[in-house]
Parts: sequence; C-alpha cells; structure tokens
Amino acid sequence: MRAVPNAGITGRVELSYEFQRRNTIKRYRAGLVKKDDVCDAEFLLVAASDFHGHPAGYDCPICDSPRLRHVQWIYGDGLKHASGSARTPEEIARFEAQGTVFTTHLVEVCQDCHWNHLLKATTPTPEEAS
Ligand SMILES: [Zn+2]
Repeated sequence: MRAVPNAGITGRVELSYEFQRRNTIKRYRAGLVKKDDVCDAEFLLVAASDFHGHPAGYDCPICDSPRLRHVQWIYGDGLKHASGSARTPEEIARFEAQGTVFTTHLVEVCQDCHWNHLLKATTPTPEEAS
C-alpha cells in the first residue's frame, strides 16, 4: 500500500461490517430475529447520532424511515477522555491532524425505530508500524 504522509499517519486499515449488516437484515426479514433485538439503540446512541451525526442519505432498512443517520465513534488510548465518544467529522479531522492514532467506528442509527449497526471500523496505521 502506497502511503500518503499526513501527520505521521501513513494509511488506513478498513474493516467493513456490510456482510454482517446484510445478514442481520436478512434474518430480520425472514422472521428469525425480533425487531426489539435489532432496534435496540440506547438513548445515548440515538441522541449522539442526532447531535454529532449526519443523514445517511438512504432510508432505514427496517422501518423505511428517512431519519436514518450516520455517526462516528472514536476509540484509542491517545484520545484520553475523548475515547468512546461520538464526534463530528471536523473533530475527528482535528484529532488526526494532531497525529493521534485511534479507531473510528461508523454506525448507522434510525431515529424512529432505533435500528443500529456498525458499518465500518477504520484504524490509521502510524509510520512506525509500516
Ligand atoms: Zn428505522
């Protein structure tokens, strides 16, 4: 992988959860899992997606609501108290510019039925690791 130098971050490892997501939706539609089991977003997650997130641009796969949002959560020791919190893309860009290494989870959350699923986990690869 050819790296683009950017504040000590040379690349990214992306892990897609698209397969698991499709599988969960398929199982729900087949009646194998209950709505309560897939639409279990906690209050904090729903609120965070409203406050820090942005519209997904497509409807909820469970209830067809257009109020489906994408929100990013960040995790990493270098983030200290910010680890495990939802952040806007601008805040995430600021942490990256500081050279902080952390994992970003992109989550979709429905404001109506509370469906939620991890879409993607992204971890930057620092220079010394490549
Ligand atoms: Zn929904």
